[in-house]
Amino acid sequence: MAIKLDPATREALVDRVRFYRDLGLTELYRRPVDPALAAQLAAVLDAPQPADRPLAAGRTSGAPSFPQFSQEETPEKLGKHEPRQTPALPQHTQEEQPIPPRKTMPAPPAIAAAVPPADRAAALQLIRDEIGDCTRCALHTGRNKLVFGDGSPAARLMFVGEGPGADEDAQGLPFVGKAGQLLNNMINAMGLKREEVYIANVVKCRPPGNRVPEPEEANTCSPFLFGQIDLIRPEVLVALGATAATYLLGQRQPLAGLRGRVHFVRGTKLIVTYHPAYLLRDPRQKKEAWADLQIAMSELGLKAPGRG
Ligand code: URA
Repeated sequence: MAIKLDPATREALVDRVRFYRDLGLTELYRRPVDPALAAQLAAVLDAPQPADRPLAAGRTSGAPSFPQFSQEETPEKLGKHEPRQTPALPQHTQEEQPIPPRKTMPAPPAIAAAVPPADRAAALQLIRDEIGDCTRCALHTGRNKLVFGDGSPAARLMFVGEGPGADEDAQGLPFVGKAGQLLNNMINAMGLKREEVYIANVVKCRPPGNRVPEPEEANTCSPFLFGQIDLIRPEVLVALGATAATYLLGQRQPLAGLRGRVHFVRGTKLIVTYHPAYLLRDPRQKKEAWADLQIAMSELGLKAPGRG
């Protein structure tokens, strides 16, 4: 039976589902979802919001105890009351179906011998060549450009996101959209430049409507991410959001239980924090993200600029 919701209830519901998704709670409902319905829901959840408008370069604030990364994103300045333009919610119902078994994570490939920093760019190119004009999973059908990774092959710090969005798909580089501007600000707040770190994603092709990659897609692509990690051997990995945490750790857990401590993955320390896109939607969580980044900084022996 189709349910018709009044606009306020519908918006509240969309906000709530988006919030759960940002926390990594993507399986609220135990029936399999029709892919067409999932794509329509993704379009609703990923529709532009006031917080998604372009960010200005970071400015300093009135002495906060943590960096705001960009003051332009404070809720007061986000035009909270602007009407949101969302596509109409689908009005479908689903037949009860059996739950398909979850795929197991692939066994991690053997960690290769250390490659000297001078040879790593060429070695990364070998991984890129191995990926080639990839058709290994369904994501290739909607791809404009494959997004391999960006940054220093000798990076001490590596960030892992979920998958390319529209800007990344157009440019072939990770984190170049609005979330990328915030990530740049976060990197700068740590006293680093973007060129000094390495940035990659769990999947290298854009999922349609920016939906979360399917396990099949992530498991197909993640060996290449592991190859990048094994080659660069960063001292610290930062998982940006639940998808990165899930596929780096090889198990799905709520983000809240993973933050605030050091994990170990492929011989490297791993810190889990919020995805910058989530921080754009809920800037109040930046304080929490900064606490996570401070753990990474402490592991790297870094001090934030101007903070003693
Ligand atoms: N979000 C991601 O997870 N990765 C990107 O490269 C861009 C946005």
